[in-house]
Amino acid sequence: MDLFEHQAKELFAEYGIPVPRGKVAHTAEEARAAAAELTGRVVVKAQVKTGGRGKAGGVKVAEDADDAYRKATEILGMDIKGHTVHKVLIEEASAIAEEYYFSFLLDRANRTFLAICSASGGMDIEEVAHATPEKVAKIPVNPLTGVDRARAREIARAGGLPEKAIEGAAEIIEKLWAVFVDEDATLVEVNPLILSADGQVRALDGKVTLDDNASFRQPEHEAYVDAATTDPLEARAKEKDLNYVKLDGTVGIIGNGAGLVMSTLDVVAYAGEEFGGQRPANFLDIGGGASAEVMANGLEIVLSDPDVKSVFVNVFGGITACDAVANGIVSAFKLLEERGESVKHPLVVRLDGNNAALGRKILQDAALPRVELVDTMDEAAKRAAELAAVGA
Ligand code: GDP
Ligand code: MN
Repeated sequence: MDLFEHQAKELFAEYGIPVPRGKVAHTAEEARAAAAELTGRVVVKAQVKTGGRGKAGGVKVAEDADDAYRKATEILGMDIKGHTVHKVLIEEASAIAEEYYFSFLLDRANRTFLAICSASGGMDIEEVAHATPEKVAKIPVNPLTGVDRARAREIARAGGLPEKAIEGAAEIIEKLWAVFVDEDATLVEVNPLILSADGQVRALDGKVTLDDNASFRQPEHEAYVDAATTDPLEARAKEKDLNYVKLDGTVGIIGNGAGLVMSTLDVVAYAGEEFGGQRPANFLDIGGGASAEVMANGLEIVLSDPDVKSVFVNVFGGITACDAVANGIVSAFKLLEERGESVKHPLVVRLDGNNAALGRKILQDAALPRVELVDTMDEAAKRAAELAAVGA
């Protein structure tokens, strides 16, 4: 889960990392009031979970409260890389002397943690990293020894920060490591980390990605969940413990195993090209032990997506054999009927692997309405795309 900048900064503040004073506003009126409270110049910052807000015009300095009202009017409702701005952060403006870059992240490729530090921070860091990679220090961090003040100083020096900023930066880097570890983050990024005109080092921006796999031991993180932007189907799926991601196509997908489901998405997208560009409507992995209830929940979620025109159930029998899955589908139909949710769209089912023949027989004998059995994954994908194209 990614945090909004204001959430990242609230978290930073809890760890004693200096951030500008600020307040979130959802309307231009609220922005004016917040600016009046802060007094003086403020910055109006779009709160969207994407970078490059500055370049997109989503970060603007305002001279006073009325100006903050105007700037907030301009920024609220703005679209930044497909994200609509629903709130702005009103912050006391900082007089910036220098902009640095700092982050801790999980470097999956090298199976380590990494500190990235550069004296050339700010909005062009990607360009700096590309054109002059020697200006961006990448330092592996041993999770067992972590980052103490001395190590933090080394990192700041490796990034080329000037002597006058080393102590302030090191203090922040040490605390950011605490955020990274204690909050189970996979990324904490500060760009820019600034040296202010009066010589203070401060976090002027904040990006934090929390590891959702650790949410069981981070109950406080629940508060960061953004109900407004969570897809309602994804929210319902999550309540039912399903691995569901909404996509924008018309072919509902249900499979067992993340790898199989991902390749199913590819095969459907490919087959769909022939039928006016039909694409997968979702990712749904019902996992290894697909019980009738899990199958029913999965079908219910997929079928309640108004964009879905056909469903492709792609199962490879393993520990849970195909006959169990077939029985699951049959019971799922019964369960859905009991819940008053009839199956309105055609289902194309491909069963392969352990006990495939038996599974197919169970489905044939059940003669479920709107269920078609297709033997191969490619043919099934094609049939599902074809059915979606005719709007079946
Ligand atoms: P991003 O573009 O989404 O990364 O948004 P940032 O929060 O990093 O802001 C972009 C740029 O706006 C920064 O690199 C700064 O140059 C500038 N900026 C942000 N806050 C202030 C401020 O308080 N004072 C001044 N002078 N510039 C600011
Ligand atoms: Mn930034």
